[in-house]
Amino acid sequence: MRRLLVAGNWKMHGTRQSVDSLLKGLNQQDWPDNVDLMIAPPSLYIQHCLERLSGSPLYVGGQSCAYQAEPGALTGEISAAQLRDAGCEFVLVGHSERRSLFGETDEVVRKKFAAALACGLRPVLCVGETLEQRDAGRTAEVVGTQLKVILDAFGVGGLAQGVVAYEPVWAIGTGLTAEPDQAQDVHAMIRARLAMLDDEQAQLVQIVYGGSVKADNAEALFAMPDIDGGLVGGASLNADEFGAIARAA
Ligand code: 13P
Repeated sequence: MRRLLVAGNWKMHGTRQSVDSLLKGLNQQDWPDNVDLMIAPPSLYIQHCLERLSGSPLYVGGQSCAYQAEPGALTGEISAAQLRDAGCEFVLVGHSERRSLFGETDEVVRKKFAAALACGLRPVLCVGETLEQRDAGRTAEVVGTQLKVILDAFGVGGLAQGVVAYEPVWAIGTGLTAEPDQAQDVHAMIRARLAMLDDEQAQLVQIVYGGSVKADNAEALFAMPDIDGGLVGGASLNADEFGAIARAA
């Protein structure tokens, strides 16, 4: 049986004050003990979150990392090694906002995935198609290509050390959620692709869904056989709603 993961991606939200009140709210939640839990705050607040969440079951993760694990002249970047040193357990790689707004190619994503694994972080590989690609019937091809780069380099065993997050771009921040069946179809396609290479490992890979997950749609999504939890954006900024989503898992 795979454990479920419910993760919150805070993106570029928060001030010292709002982060404090969010942490206070998170510390008041009744967390399920059969679910992995994680938040990915802006880097600036990671240390503070780790301190305030000590003793809580919530892991902390980075939203991205540099493509190189070693220290170096990469102004503005934070390395996987630094995230690990701070106490993070996870890091998102290849989020669609990184791909589309910061030009991250599959090759860059592969390097970040490698850096994360090398540092003992669990990379959360984000994949997903745009609406245009879906309408053109290209979902399987697009997601397949994003996965292939990682599979060619690390195999299913390497991927299983991380997490796959299926985040259809058209469902991110739009309030449009993939229907549970629609998301399940893609999750099953992903798992089938992994199973062709290594069936045993494929059954272990956590594949979470992201894209307008809310307290009122989480239960139906998480009930699907290949949906192993969620990567939550907007709704993770509300402690009670994030708590409710976690309890729906
Ligand atoms: P929303 O939940 O705000 O749609 O964001 C999803 C996401 O991008 C999580 O990484």
